[in-house]
Amino acid sequence: MELDSLYQEVILDHYKKPHHKGLPTGEIQVHHVNPNCGDEITLSLAIRDGKVEDLVWDGVGCSISQASASIMSELVSGKTVAEAQVALKEFTEMMQSKGNFLGNEEILEDAVALAGVSKFPARVKCALLGWMAFKDAAIQNGAEL
Ligand code: ZN
Repeated sequence: MELDSLYQEVILDHYKKPHHKGLPTGEIQVHHVNPNCGDEITLSLAIRDGKVEDLVWDGVGCSISQASASIMSELVSGKTVAEAQVALKEFTEMMQSKGNFLGNEEILEDAVALAGVSKFPARVKCALLGWMAFKDAAIQNGAEL
């Protein structure tokens, strides 16, 4: 199987069966939009003992934005804030690389499937939407990111 089609399958799987998607119930809820594409994400989480817990998001939008939010939520849930920060930094660098940085799979897991998106500037905001919502929510819950 071609690597590209394997990656497309990962994205499609997350889009069809999103992880941690539901009604956010946390006291602090963040709502991020990407007006260029019409993507929206609402997200809440808790930080307990330095770990990311109770991450729930809801959203509408293109397959990239929704799959990326699902992949992100799977990746950071249960991780320490420090680990989540490493993943966030790695993913952001990958997205800003214009296709030159494929990302470390040990850090990013399924998120490396989105590496190809960085070649399309118009779609980078789609891929980053959920991650920026996570960052915002973590900071508002007292994490230092
Ligand atoms: Zn989009």
